[in-house]
Amino acid sequence: MEARKVIIIGTGPAGLTAAIYNARADLKPLVLEGHEPGGQLTLTTEVENFPGFASGVMGPELMGNMKQQAAKFGAEFLPVMCTEADLSKRPFVIKASNGQTYTAEAVIISTGASAKFLGLPHEKELTGRGVSTCATCDGFFYRDKIVHVVGGGDTAMEDATFITKFAKKVYLVHRKDTLRASKPMQERAFNNPKIEFIWDTAITEIKHSEAGVTGVVVENLKTGDKQERPTDGLFYAIGHTPNTKFLNGQLKTNEEGYLITTNDVETNIPGVFACGDVQDTYYRQAITAAGSGCQAAIKAERFLEGH
Ligand code: NDP
Repeated sequence: MEARKVIIIGTGPAGLTAAIYNARADLKPLVLEGHEPGGQLTLTTEVENFPGFASGVMGPELMGNMKQQAAKFGAEFLPVMCTEADLSKRPFVIKASNGQTYTAEAVIISTGASAKFLGLPHEKELTGRGVSTCATCDGFFYRDKIVHVVGGGDTAMEDATFITKFAKKVYLVHRKDTLRASKPMQERAFNNPKIEFIWDTAITEIKHSEAGVTGVVVENLKTGDKQERPTDGLFYAIGHTPNTKFLNGQLKTNEEGYLITTNDVETNIPGVFACGDVQDTYYRQAITAAGSGCQAAIKAERFLEGH
């Protein structure tokens, strides 16, 4: 069993920022990259709202740079998942998908939350070319375009409303004829002349060319009628799944499985910290994730000094 001071699990902006800080503090963190190295930003194209990049930066490039920066200061990366964690006592025991077991005096969990997809053919390869799971990130690219948004919760209302700042028309496709979203968010969407609701409807196919999404096939779930609709963009707003299963209930979560933190990044187990989307259901931005990664790293460093 290899002994480490800090193990960081997950490599989105939160985990990589934590790695930069802990590496610069000479803690030589071991970083388990997870199932989606670089996190959700690797699924997007241009990032225009990350401070410091006046001309924007490609998501994968930004994450690649963060990784390089952490590695330069001595963070060690492993392209593995954490399969099991025993957090019942210190040192904590972390099992990785390469069959190795490690111990750590402090653990930082930054495994993120994965956007849910519909499961349609080609949707993953079209992400960044018409399919998006992040309106804040990609809405801007749909100026004067037609967009379809899927979902009936607050995110769908918020996303559809946000995208109308740019798009000429937003169709909100929902599988029921009532919304789960809160009343004020519903009202805002109902009152927006650019938003049109398509009720009781599922998207069954994505039409595309080399350049990206060109349309969707929708099916009315009550009548069975099918229709092909042209669209430039398809935004998924059907929820996220926090990546916390591997913790087997050892840390406190809310009903949906997001880790509950106090004092910003502390979990209910001293020495185990959480940052980024795995504990944030509200902001979900790269910059807020990076900020909380910094907090987790500083908290871990001070925890180790005190123990
Ligand atoms: P929700 O889980 O609340 O809603 C998901 C929506 O997607 C539901 O309408 C659901 O349909 C639909 N859906 C799920 N799976 C599928 C599928 N396979 N096919 C078609 N439709 C599907 O997720 P949200 O992301 O909207 O919200 C998550 C949490 O974040 C909520 O607590 C919300 O209140 C909060 N939030 C708050 C905001 C704010 O206050 N500003 C903004 C955004 C989110 P169905 O209704 O039929 O189940």
